[in-house]
Amino acid sequence: MAGVKLENVTMKYGSLIALNNVSFECPEGEFFTLLGPSGAGKTTTLELIAGIKQPTHGLIHIGDRMVNHDAPEERDVAMAFENYALYPQFSVYDNIAFPLRAPRRKGELTSAEEKERVHDITSLLGIEEYLDRKPQQLSGGQKQRVSLARAMVRRPKLYLLDEPIAHLDAKLKISARSTLKLLAHQLGTTILYVTHNYREALGLSDRIMAIRKGRVEQIGTPEEMYEKPQTDFVARLMGDPPINLVDVEVVSENARIYLQSEDLFRFPLEKALIPDMEKASWEEDGKKMVRMGVRAKNVRISREKSSEEAFELPVYVTVREAKNTVITFELTHTLFQGFVSNGQRMKVGDKVWVDIDQDGLYFFRRSMELIK
Ligand code: ADP
Ligand code: MG
Repeated sequence: MAGVKLENVTMKYGSLIALNNVSFECPEGEFFTLLGPSGAGKTTTLELIAGIKQPTHGLIHIGDRMVNHDAPEERDVAMAFENYALYPQFSVYDNIAFPLRAPRRKGELTSAEEKERVHDITSLLGIEEYLDRKPQQLSGGQKQRVSLARAMVRRPKLYLLDEPIAHLDAKLKISARSTLKLLAHQLGTTILYVTHNYREALGLSDRIMAIRKGRVEQIGTPEEMYEKPQTDFVARLMGDPPINLVDVEVVSENARIYLQSEDLFRFPLEKALIPDMEKASWEEDGKKMVRMGVRAKNVRISREKSSEEAFELPVYVTVREAKNTVITFELTHTLFQGFVSNGQRMKVGDKVWVDIDQDGLYFFRRSMELIK
């Protein structure tokens, strides 16, 4: 196995810049996840590492070798794609065994060893009973597991897995996630994993790289990405419901600092949070502004005024989930959400009290538009 390093990699498709000066290092043995929305440049990054595409600029290293000039087959990486790319004329067994056939010809692997490898991976992924079928006789989820099995059957330097479980239904996804984690642990090998699902990223990764419009936004452990997002974009990426972001005015009065959103709310900021707030704030139309972030779990909602700082808002939407109801409020430019337990009945239009747990407050510069 080997680590991977990208140095100042830029990839253009004509005039479109898909990757813009991307650098990162994934050490040997790490489960490293590229997390970002569709179009961010995740697949392109894997394709450049696999050698399917050539970067416009920059260097790609696998282990201690610079591989820019190496053909894909010389790089010794295995890649599983979101869109399966199975051979339709081959059985499931032959599809999975295909990457082992070159070593077989070279006598590195006996027929019995090949069977054993296929057996090990297919029993782990629960697809043993389909070995004689053709790909067109499989559901999307089954094809995806075959594609994953084909990528994982070899022992390459590096695995590149591009949304390998995106098409599985919710229940299978959870078991596939555990399987992947187990596989990663058993193989102890380097895995570059792509997903747009933050739960998957949090659950599987040693480290996560958030990517946005071809640029690296932040790299960190799951805890760092969730607890210490450095930008509004990363904060929004890491959570469901997504973190509330509101641009508020910073008002100084009677030696206190207040955060104020139009005429909807105003509360005094705890002194300890002032330095963080100051760092993120900006001037606009003669006002001092800051982007405030607070997760739904840090928003307290109640029928009675629960503290001096609480403010009143009308309920805009309610969505009942298993244990809690998500309450949405409408602010001038965005939406704001919190939870109440299902026992507390709150109807659309009810005026309720909202109180923010200031331990859960974040402050960001504005780096993206907020949309309702
Ligand atoms: P992701 O995998 O994060 O969804 P991609 O790497 O597939 O993103 O794409 C990044 C950007 O590059 C997107 O804007 C996409 O439309 C564009 N792109 C990807 N492949 C090609 C291609 N072969 N030709 C032109 N543009 C492409
Ligand atoms: Mg993609």
